Amino acid sequence: MIAVSVFNGKRVALFGLGGSGLVTAQVLLAGGAGVVAFDDNPNSVAKADAANIPTANLREEDWSKFDALVLAPGVPLTHPQPHWTVDLANANGVEIIGDVELFSRQMNDLGRPAPIVAITGTNGKSTTTALIAHVLEQAGRDVQMGGNIGRAVLDLDPISDTPENQAYVVECSSYQIDTSPSLKPTVGLLLNLTPDHLERHGTMENYGRIKFQLVAASDTAVVGVDDDYCVSYAAQLNDVVTISGQSNTVAKIGFDGTNLIDAAGVKLVSLENIGALRGRHNGQNAASAYAACHAVGLSDQDIQAGFRSFPGLAHRMEQVGHCGHVLFINDSKATNAEAAAPALSSFDKSFWILGGLAKDGGIASLAPHFPRVAKAYLIGEAAGNFAAQLGDTIPYEISGTLKDAVNHATADAALRASEMSGAEQVVLLSPAAASFDQFPNFEKRGEAFKEAVTALDGFKKIGTKTS
Ligand code: ADP
Repeated sequence: MIAVSVFNGKRVALFGLGGSGLVTAQVLLAGGAGVVAFDDNPNSVAKADAANIPTANLREEDWSKFDALVLAPGVPLTHPQPHWTVDLANANGVEIIGDVELFSRQMNDLGRPAPIVAITGTNGKSTTTALIAHVLEQAGRDVQMGGNIGRAVLDLDPISDTPENQAYVVECSSYQIDTSPSLKPTVGLLLNLTPDHLERHGTMENYGRIKFQLVAASDTAVVGVDDDYCVSYAAQLNDVVTISGQSNTVAKIGFDGTNLIDAAGVKLVSLENIGALRGRHNGQNAASAYAACHAVGLSDQDIQAGFRSFPGLAHRMEQVGHCGHVLFINDSKATNAEAAAPALSSFDKSFWILGGLAKDGGIASLAPHFPRVAKAYLIGEAAGNFAAQLGDTIPYEISGTLKDAVNHATADAALRASEMSGAEQVVLLSPAAASFDQFPNFEKRGEAFKEAVTALDGFKKIGTKTS
């Protein structure tokens, strides 16, 4: 844990006692702050009490005595409406900050002895964060990865005796940036911007402005230029490393479908045959990871080696394994149509398992990708709705359960492989729907998919493919 001494002797109201809230309270206390913690959930308050964290109903406290309100990520600042602690803080002129702000102030206070790489964007944050962390680790750095992925940022290891060999790699949601005015990354990445989470940020302008703050404050700013919002933000920076998942932009680092290339089209590193980095969207992620790793001193050789050994993240186009010539991909994280598009476009033809709880619009926006689908296997509540949207565009069946879908898709894919002299076929779970009708969450849905394919006769985990 990183002891936060910058609040030594100050009084802090802390709201939100989930995992990261408990850590925040502990590090503030360890650093000499006075903490009064609370949560709307009495069970969370009881947990904090058990951990010797001082708690009290913040409604009944004298807010003029607080120096700051520390909010857990996810507690509404403005939209749909400010949380009641936010109203109390504002009424009393108390600043409102989050755990990334405490981390940043502490690091700034120490002179930022280790590089901080901070990643934001609408899509691809976790993949890019994990990729950067993996590449740096493979190159011998002591990597501390956390924030909106894995460990809470204050739960990371503190600055070591050899900070020049350390690197903090921090995924930041817009909420975390919004409550972290002191965040000054060594390298800041803004991958892309599409309308998302507007229920929390009101307008696209507000959402974009928050994310832009991260790169605007960075020593080295890396901005993806594959959408108009980011193009206009990149134009506001004097010095920016522009990146792209395409080759036809003016980005400093682009992707030609096989290699990352510089602005002159010269190859930097190759993504060929790297299964965990398939698809244009991963070209964007890899280009930004390249820029970040380069900025903290890695060579092209180090970056190439790190890319090659990247295992990918679970449930995001995760390669599970093979059954003969059939490859299984788990993209359970794709809980809406937009998130399923990159997976569909990454394969020439796929046997596509989809369904669950439909989101607004269903799969209408995926129509341009339908020609890439050999057959669709529909599961869950959305099956009827999705079937109607597919109409007679492509063959489909209503499988009902994930297990039946896996069995049927595998049989069809194996048949097609044998008809095509053993050409690899893909069974893809990319549901384009929420999981809650049949599973507690998308992770459990992905696990169920992996269990079903692992149980197939002749299944081999990836890396053990037989020819
Ligand atoms: P995030 O952390 O931003 O939610 P993830 O890295 O977890 O993003 O990826 C979630 C899904 O978003 C992936 O399964 C993929 O379908 C899609 N995705 C990943 N990277 C990108 C990208 N650069 N652009 C668009 N979509 C992406």
